[in-house]
Amino acid sequence: MARVLIVGAGLTGSVCAALLRKETARPLHLVVWDKAGDSGGRMTTACSPQNPQSTVDLGAQYITCTPHYAKKHQSFYDELLAHGILKPLTSPIEGMVMKEGDCNFVAPQGVSSIIKHYLKESGADICFRQCVTQINLRNDKWEVSKETGSPEQFDIVVLTMPVPQILQLQGDIANVISECQRQQLQSVSYSSRYALGLFYEAGTKIDVPWAGQYITSNPCIRFISIDNKKRNIGYKCCCQLSWPNDSSSQTLPCVWRGWIYPLQLRWLHCFCLMCSGSFKGSYLVPVFLVSTCALGFCFLNFLLLIFSFSILLREITGKLFFTCCHFLYGV
Ligand SMILES: Cc1cc2nc3c(=O)[nH]c(=O)nc-3n(C[C@H](O)[C@H](O)[C@H](O)COP(=O)(O)OP(=O)(O)OC[C@H]3O[C@@H](n4cnc5c(N)ncnc54)[C@H](O)[C@@H]3O)c2cc1C
Repeated sequence: MARVLIVGAGLTGSVCAALLRKETARPLHLVVWDKAGDSGGRMTTACSPQNPQSTVDLGAQYITCTPHYAKKHQSFYDELLAHGILKPLTSPIEGMVMKEGDCNFVAPQGVSSIIKHYLKESGADICFRQCVTQINLRNDKWEVSKETGSPEQFDIVVLTMPVPQILQLQGDIANVISECQRQQLQSVSYSSRYALGLFYEAGTKIDVPWAGQYITSNPCIRFISIDNKKRNIGYKCCCQLSWPNDSSSQTLPCVWRGWIYPLQLRWLHCFCLMCSGSFKGSYLVPVFLVSTCALGFCFLNFLLLIFSFSILLREITGKLFFTCCHFLYGV
């Protein structure tokens, strides 16, 4: 039986696995590896450390079906709607550009439920915390090495990770990619996005008329969503920040308990790199403190330290929890 490895348990990897299972007549042993601890990739849904029922979409916020997509992929939308994985987006999103014929959908159980659905359909063996580092050709098979554990051999390997990660792979794979393909891959540009999810106590009222809002008046904040309103469920809030490449020392005013703290984005950047991936508030605060201490006690760091302590206080009083993610965003 042919062994097929799909690297990446995001939307591309999961749909690819489900389609291979559905469309291929010959029996396949499908394996999906992802370096993260769960599926979703840039369609991640994070849980509150206090209440796993309380979730927040940290990547994609809603799915737009254009007339062109509807023509090509209507069966995908129909299937997800029939399973209750997608529902029409009915809440107001301020600043959303609606084109004629577009339909928007949300995933009531979180956007990662789309990925989980396809992975389940595929029947693939899914392994997390498997970071692929090298791909070599050995006796007509692809030998795939990862950060931990022994290399494994496959007949077919499908790579679905973002381009920078593909170009970092070592081994024969580097020679398989032609110069022209390499140039095309290198021309794909990304920008950085941070997503911050805040979990509020049940019953907290956020008195705004929208469920989501595009922000155009701030150089850093791109989008804010009251995620429960957006998805018509529980309680949480999500905010997406962009990382302007040319202004790493830009400060972001952070309002916390009525105080305004200047948060330098490069600190957020260092901090997110240190904690790469998604993490829970309780781990996040000490690491945040360590990173600010290491940077020295200049005035802004001191303010940042106060900011960190106020988060810590919030943590201890258990009133608010948060989670944060760093993504590459295709532009
Ligand atoms: C902040 C943000 C907001 C967005 N909003 C929307 C939206 O509202 N609507 C919309 O339709 N789209 C949105 N998008 C885009 C959408 O999320 C992506 O297009 C989609 O999720 C990409 O899926 P993918 O499977 O191709 O890649 P990914 O989701 O990135 O999946 C790649 C997977 O590969 C894994 N991986 C990477 N390197 C390795 C390695 N070496 N070994 C093993 N595994 C590895 C990663 O952990 C990841 O899980 C948004 C994206 C971002 C970042």
